[in-house]
Amino acid sequence: MMTASSTSLMQRVCAVPLARAARTRAMAAASMNLSTTTSTTTTTAPSLAKRADPQVLLGLSEPELQQLAIDFSQQGYRGKQLHHLIYKRKIKDIQDFNQVPLAFRNELEEAGWKVGRSPIYQSVTAADGTVKLLIKLEDNRLIETVGIPVKDEKGVMRLTACVSSQVGCPLRCSFCATGKGGFSRNLKRHEIVEQVLAIEEIFNHRVTNVVFMGMGEPMMNLKAVLEAHQCLNKDIQIGQRMITISTVGVPNTIKKLASHKLQSTLAVSLHAPNQKLRETIVPSAKAYPLSALMRDCRDYFTETGRRVSFEYALLAGVNDAVDHAVELAEVLHEWGRGSHVNLIPFNPIEGSEYKRPSKKAVQAFAAALENNKVTVSTRQTRGLDADAACGQLRNKFQKSPLPVDSDNLQTDEDAPVAVVC
Ligand code: SF4
Repeated sequence: MMTASSTSLMQRVCAVPLARAARTRAMAAASMNLSTTTSTTTTTAPSLAKRADPQVLLGLSEPELQQLAIDFSQQGYRGKQLHHLIYKRKIKDIQDFNQVPLAFRNELEEAGWKVGRSPIYQSVTAADGTVKLLIKLEDNRLIETVGIPVKDEKGVMRLTACVSSQVGCPLRCSFCATGKGGFSRNLKRHEIVEQVLAIEEIFNHRVTNVVFMGMGEPMMNLKAVLEAHQCLNKDIQIGQRMITISTVGVPNTIKKLASHKLQSTLAVSLHAPNQKLRETIVPSAKAYPLSALMRDCRDYFTETGRRVSFEYALLAGVNDAVDHAVELAEVLHEWGRGSHVNLIPFNPIEGSEYKRPSKKAVQAFAAALENNKVTVSTRQTRGLDADAACGQLRNKFQKSPLPVDSDNLQTDEDAPVAVVC
């Protein structure tokens, strides 16, 4: 039990490092230059102490780590060393930072700092080499991350990390195992970044591509997604063009993303060529009509010069008829030119009412799009034997309903939460 005297002793010991931590965190927020709002600049030591995960090194940039070192009365180059140890050497524990003086390591730990890497709870490898990881977060929640290795004709491996942005997902798309598993909370910046490092560690190979297509709707956690994007690009050095942010559509967020003028790809999941059918597959579409979504995609292209790519999950007998393909081509031509559609034959999940379409149906759908001047690719289904559909593996291990953390439901004050169906 904590007594009054032990509390005041703790306050004396912790006050200075916590104040330093507040300063470094404020700097981190300012350097992001996000349009979203934060309250870090006025954070005081006690309120910082109350935050769930205030002092995590992973996710900080080199200038922020240099500032942190200076705050601890070290020379700035120590921050550079921290950066190297976290992002290049991928060391998970402050005490293993051997190049850094022991006294500095101890001070960091005493002030509550940690690297911010979580253990892998479970991993499953499919026959095609796809690896799905369950990462156990500090609050015992589980998230999925998938590593997809592909060798090109020259034998060079491209390693794609499919990362989660939320614990679960509130949008409940009717075909999705993640949606069926419920929603708990948004992921923090470092919890997104660590997924990429975990995949690199498992494959002993650098991640070349990142797709935000794992658990969750990235646009409902846009602030942390943008922070993680910056870290992946600047600190882990994954080219912006190698990163794809996927969304099923959340009102007012595509415009916000466009304002950041990223060179990354925006992939919009349509899954249906008209509003009526789309609402049955993507219930949140009721709050964001197809015409409004397509208008926002057109404006995104105008503002960024980057074409939006469209994802379409093919569900047998639901949205996979040639007529649907023709209607889809019409919609795409109405709102833009040169659209690209990525077809995803449905990955069957336990208890789902949907079935995978036949190969013939997939080919006929693709041909109808091409005949109507829409370029198309069909995603090869990877890891069918490894509970590969988004959310399947996590649902297997996290059966009990997840507690909703309302404090962390939405960190971006301007982003809508009303689309939750
Ligand atoms: S498909 Fe994506 S947005 Fe829809 S419920 Fe699943 S994770 Fe959420």
